[in-house]
Amino acid sequence: MHDSYDVAVIGLGAMGGAAAYHLAARGQRVLGLERFDPAHDRGSSHGGSRIIRQAYFEHPDYVPLLLRAYELWEALERDSGADLMSLTGALMLGRPDSRTVAGSRESARRWGLPHEMLDAADIRRRFPTLAPRDDEVALYEARGGFVRPEAAVRAHVALARREGADLRFREPAQTWTALPGGQGVRITTAAGAYTAERLVVCPGAWAPELLADLGVEFTVERQVQYWFAPRGGAGPFAPERHPVYVWEDPGGVQVYGFPAYDGPEGGVKTAFFRRGSPCTPETLDRRIHPEEIAAISAHLADRIPELPGPLLRGAACMYTTTADEHFVVAPHPEHPQVTVACGFSGHGFKFTPVIGEIAADLATTGTTAHPVDLFDPRPRRTAATQHEVTQ
Ligand SMILES: Cc1cc2nc3c(=O)[nH]c(=O)nc-3n(C[C@H](O)[C@H](O)[C@H](O)COP(=O)(O)OP(=O)(O)OC[C@H]3O[C@@H](n4cnc5c(N)ncnc54)[C@H](O)[C@@H]3O)c2cc1C
Repeated sequence: MHDSYDVAVIGLGAMGGAAAYHLAARGQRVLGLERFDPAHDRGSSHGGSRIIRQAYFEHPDYVPLLLRAYELWEALERDSGADLMSLTGALMLGRPDSRTVAGSRESARRWGLPHEMLDAADIRRRFPTLAPRDDEVALYEARGGFVRPEAAVRAHVALARREGADLRFREPAQTWTALPGGQGVRITTAAGAYTAERLVVCPGAWAPELLADLGVEFTVERQVQYWFAPRGGAGPFAPERHPVYVWEDPGGVQVYGFPAYDGPEGGVKTAFFRRGSPCTPETLDRRIHPEEIAAISAHLADRIPELPGPLLRGAACMYTTTADEHFVVAPHPEHPQVTVACGFSGHGFKFTPVIGEIAADLATTGTTAHPVDLFDPRPRRTAATQHEVTQ
């Protein structure tokens, strides 16, 4: 039997690492349990870069969280001494009525975010690697860019430890049980059993397994990141001159990408936003297949003609997607002593530090001042589960 803790955190990936840090910094006695090593590549938080942006096409309600996330990213850089964020500018491209352009514009308007609208000629002139069609436009925001996922996970883990958190890697939680009457939780691992007053569950792609009783449907999807050697070299893709981008085609397919930030040998990273195939963490196919390389090369050929040269590297990663693509961050509906943070639906990384702050609020006070109505699991529970729960 081990010590008793104020809060246990299951999963020390992006969100769990941030939660452990924010909890420990508030003086909580924190136990963290992680299946693998810090900043591993078996989940959803690897591949060197993640887009960060504010004019959020997904929904304007994310914007206040993003504004806070930027403050916390800067604080995390200061406190850890790590280089975590590069603001290169971000372009949201497509037809004016596409979700990517119209949704970004609506968020920018609603929150008064600084931005510029560019027509196709402006885009070609300012960003010569990009070849939009005449009817395509872009919203440009200078505050967009990217964050570094592995370095960010390491920074949160290191700071959580500095604040006294007891973090245990290669020790997966086998079971968690909420004790009756909201009286704490019990967690078992191969090493033994732990108790804590409260629990935060941040399981990433293991949500269907660890949070089956939440009643929310999650689809775990394989998503591939591709690093291409640009035909004419990486020069035109240098971060000083190249933004991150999300580019929607008339069929609604989105492709996104980054500048060449880790040198010419590293190649230039690009990917489809949502064209995954269902998988589980155990069945994830890590091989990259010639037909998928051909598909993304063909998609890019007349948009970013320089880009799809030889493939230097590919990496499979997982999204854990909810039906409405909004996150699940809330007290567990059945167990008030349990907080859940999951279902980040392929767009969660940029929010990592603010999700840590929200999870710490919920775990310590049961509530948060941040706007999180969109993330409530209750309206999204499946009929089947509601039935089971009321039995
Ligand atoms: C290819 C790709 C591109 C992306 N691009 C972007 C982007 O540009 N911008 C953006 O904002 N977001 C992006 N995302 C999404 C973002 O990366 C994810 O939303 C985020 O990383 C999810 O963090 P997480 O903490 O939920 O998952 P993870 O970081 O995977 O953490 C979950 C952790 O739980 C651990 N775990 C699971 N079960 C147990 C157990 N029983 N016991 C102990 N530990 C356990 C796992 O090992 C894992 O470490 C992208 C994702 C992918 C895959």
